[in-house]
Amino acid sequence: MSTATGDAMTPLLEVRDLSVGYETNGGFWGRRGIVPAVEGVSFEIAPGETLGFVGESGSGKSTIGKAILRLVSPLAGSIRFDGRDVADDGPRAPLSYRRQVQAVFQDPSASLNPRHLVAHSIESSLRRHGVTTRSEVRDRTLEAFEMVGLDRSHLQRFPNELSGGQQQRVARARARVLRPRLVVCDEAVSALDLSTQGQIINLLADLQQSTGVSYLFIAHDLGLVRHIAHRVGVMSQGSLVELAPVDDIFGSPQHPYTRRLLGATPASSPEGRDERRARRREFRAKAEAVS
Ligand code: ADP
Repeated sequence: MSTATGDAMTPLLEVRDLSVGYETNGGFWGRRGIVPAVEGVSFEIAPGETLGFVGESGSGKSTIGKAILRLVSPLAGSIRFDGRDVADDGPRAPLSYRRQVQAVFQDPSASLNPRHLVAHSIESSLRRHGVTTRSEVRDRTLEAFEMVGLDRSHLQRFPNELSGGQQQRVARARARVLRPRLVVCDEAVSALDLSTQGQIINLLADLQQSTGVSYLFIAHDLGLVRHIAHRVGVMSQGSLVELAPVDDIFGSPQHPYTRRLLGATPASSPEGRDERRARRREFRAKAEAVS
């Protein structure tokens, strides 16, 4: 990725010693209690950076995303956004934080009301965040639509009249319209076919180039993460076992779990720069051929 940011930059997001657990009712025999899902995880995301998170299902990736989005409360640790501890604002994050940190999930149709036109979903998002002038609502909606490669006719459709890829673009437009600084993408393209995945990944990269947005990109598909991330964190059983630049993770993984996860991508044959460029060119060409 060409937008890789320097390490010296002040982080946009700083997570320190984050632990999150879920309350259980203990089942038939058990006692009520807290089951840990994430323990002592620390990382940073710089402005304009994409941090990928990989790891087997149940390793705690989504829980970290939810903690950042303030959908679950940490048991311990801190989350600082732009230098400010998010927990200081109490259980309900202020509107400005919720505007600046947006989410895109796997099933975009779930976040779009099937009974509302797409235009209504986007506009109500803006109004909730205090943009009420008709002309500004219209301009920002059209601007976001243009950025994600949809035309204004899509605004007058219901979600079920759009393809999976178009729905994902609408979800991106809805997040984009608020001009967020960080977007948590949790398996955001996993349900799409390969070529549509490529288009959306390219779209995310283009938006990052033009707006400087940061991404936390959670995915089980290592190939996708390899394509989009600047750095990659590897989660195993609630812990972050390795965090390194993407080429180091795929070229010379240090942790035994990372090596196992990479499986068929042997540590002994790191990809050269030219091979990497060629692979990305090929990926882009494939995506563009079908767009
Ligand atoms: P991943 O995203 O890596 O698949 P998750 O963050 O979804 O992992 O889950 C981490 C752990 O927390 C798992 O053991 C999962 O079963 C548990 N968990 C996730 N959500 C809940 C929940 N709402 N209630 C109870 N346990 C949960």
